[in-house]
Amino acid sequence: MLEAFLREGFLLFGNFSIQPHHMIRIEHIGIAVKDLSRAEEVYAALLGAPSYKREAVESEGVITSFFQVGPNKVELLESTRPDGPIAKAIEKRGEGIHHIAFEVADIRAEMERLKAEGFTLLNEEPKRGADNKLVCFIHPKSANGVLVELCQEIVPA
Ligand code: ZN
Repeated sequence: MLEAFLREGFLLFGNFSIQPHHMIRIEHIGIAVKDLSRAEEVYAALLGAPSYKREAVESEGVITSFFQVGPNKVELLESTRPDGPIAKAIEKRGEGIHHIAFEVADIRAEMERLKAEGFTLLNEEPKRGADNKLVCFIHPKSANGVLVELCQEIVPA
């Protein structure tokens, strides 16, 4: 399906600069929360549909909860430890939007491209994130105060 989309993208946009190795879409918006169960209730009421899965990412010290919104997702994140990145973000800025995640077709190619454009990557190698994704984060200082995540679906071999 992705291939078809990209092929059509090429055909439809012929001479424009849509390339298969660039951003495909906003995949999800990450929201830092203090109490995941309570936030799940709020977002289930807001979106009119419950969370479809919870997933812990041990390496990041978070539990995530995902909601589908049309072709996009909302990811709620609660810290599992007081010194984790989500706990620190809430300490600094309170609860709220934590990052915007863009789906990419080739995360390594995008990391190279963005590095060459002068962006600061927070990880040099793609790492395993929630929801079966390889991810890389871009420092908010290089993106006008927004923490940007690149994500690519892991396709089973
Ligand atoms: Zn995310």
